[in-house]
Amino acid sequence: MVALLNGFGGLASLLVAGAELAHEWQKPDGVLQTALTAGNVPIWVQFVIATAATALIGGVTFTGSVVAFGKLQGIISDPPHLPGQQIINLVLLGAVLGLTGMLLVDPSAIWAYWAIVAIACVLGVLLVLGIGGADMPVVIALLNSYSGLAAAATGFVLNNVALIVTGALVGASGIILTMIMCKAMNRSLTNVLFGVWVAKDAGRSADDVYGGKIKSSSPDELALLLDGAQRVVIVPGFGMAVAQAQHAVRELTQLLEARGTQVEFAIHPVAGRMPGHMNVLLAEANIPYEQVKEMDEINPTFEQTDVAIVIGANDVVNSEARTNPSSPIAGMPILDVHLARSVVVVKRSLSPGFAGIPNPLFAADNTLMLFADAKKGMLDLVAAIKEN
Ligand code: NDP
Repeated sequence: MVALLNGFGGLASLLVAGAELAHEWQKPDGVLQTALTAGNVPIWVQFVIATAATALIGGVTFTGSVVAFGKLQGIISDPPHLPGQQIINLVLLGAVLGLTGMLLVDPSAIWAYWAIVAIACVLGVLLVLGIGGADMPVVIALLNSYSGLAAAATGFVLNNVALIVTGALVGASGIILTMIMCKAMNRSLTNVLFGVWVAKDAGRSADDVYGGKIKSSSPDELALLLDGAQRVVIVPGFGMAVAQAQHAVRELTQLLEARGTQVEFAIHPVAGRMPGHMNVLLAEANIPYEQVKEMDEINPTFEQTDVAIVIGANDVVNSEARTNPSSPIAGMPILDVHLARSVVVVKRSLSPGFAGIPNPLFAADNTLMLFADAKKGMLDLVAAIKEN
């Protein structure tokens, strides 16, 4: 849905700007014709540049969002690296500048506008296709910003102040979010902006990582473990969202608190599939804000944690980010759950997360796996604790 909102925002902007260009050209008393006749260069240049900018940003936003959607849904996988992709991107950008120059000289060349749109659409695909692993959150924030910038550019075409202001607000907030995501994930904004492809590998195979080391547990066993726990930290991830387990998680939290256990939530900035995903779900389940801690705040406390419960999270607790420099998530800060005395991971299988790599946490000595759907697992655990 986010991809549709961003992508269609870009598409709508470029369609409106294209229609306005054609319309203005045919209107003898319109902005464009009046400016041309009166030789009012600033107005004419502003109109044409804003129109071309809408085509470029709108096109990149539209196809980029469609590709991002495909990647998030698992329909499109990371393609092999295209040699010289940066040069292709630069050539395409050069072609857009050339066509904009043509439009400036002859605004009746409407075909040049649609050529910019076509090139921008190709550019959108190329820029997003090469970005994978853990970098997609930045792309989502960036596309959100682009959709605002496309609307702002359309505002200049239509001379509509409301559109300029709202578009600029969306654009600016999106770019601030992008920068926050980049910082949180230790990524370079320039690399993501220009779709720079960094060599990656999947690291060790699942058999190497997990072979004979996985300890499966049951709700009854976990109820006993939690019985003696004074401090519990819950780490939600994408799986909690899929299972809609947030209400069952709240029930578990209340039960533990009623027994005197301190419960807190650890939120990784890219957990789930969109910025703020986990915060929204926990707020929906009425988990008090004070209990929800950000990564930097909660990480130093894991050593004093009796049990860390990881619910449907995977990449955000994967130490490969630290130990394997060519991993798709290399350099991304993680939640240090492995430092807790015991770790419980609730997920359905040993399947990898979004980045597609095995997670050594599942095979760690202090980890117990509860193989279950997050919601069912939580409800079974609640029932087991009540019986205990
Ligand atoms: P992950 O994608 O790493 O892992 C999610 C895990 O949830 C899977 O391993 C899966 O295992 C489990 N799962 C799925 N369905 C269920 C279910 N019904 N019940 C229980 N478990 C389930 O999630 P994280 O939140 O740890 O990490 C987010 C990832 O998504 C990062 O790589 C991030 O870069 C990326 N991303 C984030 C965006 C954002 O803005 N936040 C945007 C785009 C991508 P199993 O199938 O075995 O159950």
